[in-house]
Amino acid sequence: MNTMPESAALPAYLANLNPPQLDAVTSTEGPLLVLAGAGTGKTRVLITRVCHLMVTRKAFAGQILAVTFTNKAAAEMRSRIAAIVGDSVEAMWLGTFHALAARILRRHAEHAGLKPNFTILDQDDQIRLIKQLLAAENIDDKKWPARVVHHVIERWKDRGLTPDKVGTDPSGEIAGGRAVELYAMYQERLKTLNACDFGDLLLHNLTIFQTRPDVLAEYHKRFRYMLVDEYQDTNVAQYMWLRILAQQSRNLCCVGDDDQSIYGWRGAEVGNILRFEKDFPGAKIVRLEQNYRSSEHILAAASGLIAHNRARLGKTLWTAEAGGERVTVRPVWDGEQEANFVADEIENLQRAGEKLGDIAILVRAGFQTREFEERFITLGIPYRVIGGPRFYEREEIRDAIAYFRVIVQPDDDLAFERIVNKPRRGIGDATVQLLQRLARARGMPLLAAAETIVTTDELKPAARNAVRRVVEDFARWRGQVERAHHAELAATVLDESGYTRMWQMDKSPEKDGKLENLKELVAALEEYDDLPAFLEHVSLVMENAEAAPADMTSLMTLHAAKGLEFGTVFLPGWEEGLFPHPRALDDKGEDGLEEERRLAHVGLTRARRRAYVTFAANRRIHGMWQSSVPSRFVAELPPDRVDVKSEPGLWGDGPQFAHEPARSFGYGNRRSPLIEGRATEIGGRRSDLSPGMRVFHQKFGYGRVVATESGKLEVEFEHSGLKHVMESFVEKA
Ligand code: ATP
Ligand code: MG
Repeated sequence: MNTMPESAALPAYLANLNPPQLDAVTSTEGPLLVLAGAGTGKTRVLITRVCHLMVTRKAFAGQILAVTFTNKAAAEMRSRIAAIVGDSVEAMWLGTFHALAARILRRHAEHAGLKPNFTILDQDDQIRLIKQLLAAENIDDKKWPARVVHHVIERWKDRGLTPDKVGTDPSGEIAGGRAVELYAMYQERLKTLNACDFGDLLLHNLTIFQTRPDVLAEYHKRFRYMLVDEYQDTNVAQYMWLRILAQQSRNLCCVGDDDQSIYGWRGAEVGNILRFEKDFPGAKIVRLEQNYRSSEHILAAASGLIAHNRARLGKTLWTAEAGGERVTVRPVWDGEQEANFVADEIENLQRAGEKLGDIAILVRAGFQTREFEERFITLGIPYRVIGGPRFYEREEIRDAIAYFRVIVQPDDDLAFERIVNKPRRGIGDATVQLLQRLARARGMPLLAAAETIVTTDELKPAARNAVRRVVEDFARWRGQVERAHHAELAATVLDESGYTRMWQMDKSPEKDGKLENLKELVAALEEYDDLPAFLEHVSLVMENAEAAPADMTSLMTLHAAKGLEFGTVFLPGWEEGLFPHPRALDDKGEDGLEEERRLAHVGLTRARRRAYVTFAANRRIHGMWQSSVPSRFVAELPPDRVDVKSEPGLWGDGPQFAHEPARSFGYGNRRSPLIEGRATEIGGRRSDLSPGMRVFHQKFGYGRVVATESGKLEVEFEHSGLKHVMESFVEKA
């Protein structure tokens, strides 16, 4: 079976593998599980194994299927394989579960009741569809928001459950016990639309494989070898998909690390790893124990930390990289000082010849990136945010800022349009178009058009009331600009507009992150003198974002860092209440805590030579300083592997610490003249209409002008009676 040449004659691509790695690469036949810790070369084994299959002609590229966790990882793997085998890699089936399943589904769509050109709906569309269903079924979407129903359906799909298979599941009790019924209706609707959602990609594949043995046979024949990276984070549907495809060849190679399972909250089942041997009897298990990534202290610190988890298989890891630097543990006063410390350290490293691209800051929660971004911009350190937009480019931040812009600058139409119906408040496209027509005709901003139109009968009562509320809201908030503190005003605006609530009602996994970002935004406002100064700062930040140099430092969440490695890793915000994240503890107790600890372990094991853990004594939350306690994970790091670098007297010294004055950017207390009221009447009025004239109005038809008044008309319509309309919307008849 083993056709390996003598080791002296090993081809170059196998030459520098250690014995168990070589074993994993060359044991090509039968099920294989590589269960090994971070940085032991699992991904490298996978890549080498693919090359080996091709080089030894066990399979053509087109007969190999390899699954990665992200598109980025797939691209990386593709280029590393191409470096060894050349262009033939193109024929390989290499991608994420979603990408591969979509490709298969396109070829057999008809067996799933779809046409090959089916659309894959994004989350917004999915939720809109469910909303329609709720309305049609008279289910109160205040009580059962579409997002809640959507979330439940998504989780069922993760578990490979079609509506007929859900059976009795506690989450079926939502929506008055009609969740499963709604799920079935949703699936029907998708079919009529010739569409599917992400979960369907795998689910439809499963249905096709189960109902069409001929199709399944085709894939059994095609996929001679299958490989899966980050196997610990597969969900049940993905697992079933793999199992059914590998049924015949049994040449399934999975690599993973139970200590890096960090997607339980999204349906991943670490149990899949434990089941492997049972489902594939005779499976070979290879353990890799040599870590090639991290120096000794970093590896030992990470191992010491993860040893506090009870639910784990346990493993030994060693490295030939003796010594190195200990993990730097650095207490700081607050978030600003934390950002300053990290930025200074990065500048030092840069001076010492390190590449920015080899440095990463890994945060627990998305909102944490803001203070680092601000500092990097100030110092001109190029950075990118991986796996998501920069702070001020995030959807919820842009929305909130749009509200602030309209308050400061009432003729900012772009901002107004963005939020006029966000959250949904019954101002539909037709209403917005009417506002736009009026604004154009009268040469006035949209908000002014809105102010004017509510005094007429142009809009149906419901829409008119909705527009009136927006107009009144903005008038009230503008009135508070002088009196209220701007950060408080911002919070008020987000609350009173219903914007915060919109996200509170949201049930998507992004919800909490978005709410945290909004809080962080309000906290950020504290650093500026007033709203205009803050908005000015934001536009400068956005402008800065345009230049993209080649060498940049990376900011990302710990979740996004899976599988990556960096020379230097900064791990900020190791505080109770932030990391472990309280949400994980609330939802899942001890299991949640262990998943958080695995996340910390993933963070540390990304580092090759240097790792920094920082925590702040104070965080500003909702404009209030709160003192925080170091994360329990800090205490769990083995003391002999860390270097605590505390500034004398800093920690526990009380709040008398001199705080830097707010950055002012030279605005002082200057206020934008734009705040000080503005002319509502912009643009001229028509002088060609006078009482008695016959006119035509698109909605109300023919009528006669009774009175005119600054751009508005009172018209006695032939069919609709006396109405107030906009002058711009009538024609002389
Ligand atoms: P993770 O669990 O974080 O995904 P991994 O097990 O997939 O880690 P790899 O990313 O494949 O590990 O490898 C970690 C590092 O070790 C890489 O830089 C890789 O090139 C290097 N490496 C792996 N095996 C060897 C080897 N035999 N000799 C030299 N370097 C190696
Ligand atoms: Mg890997």
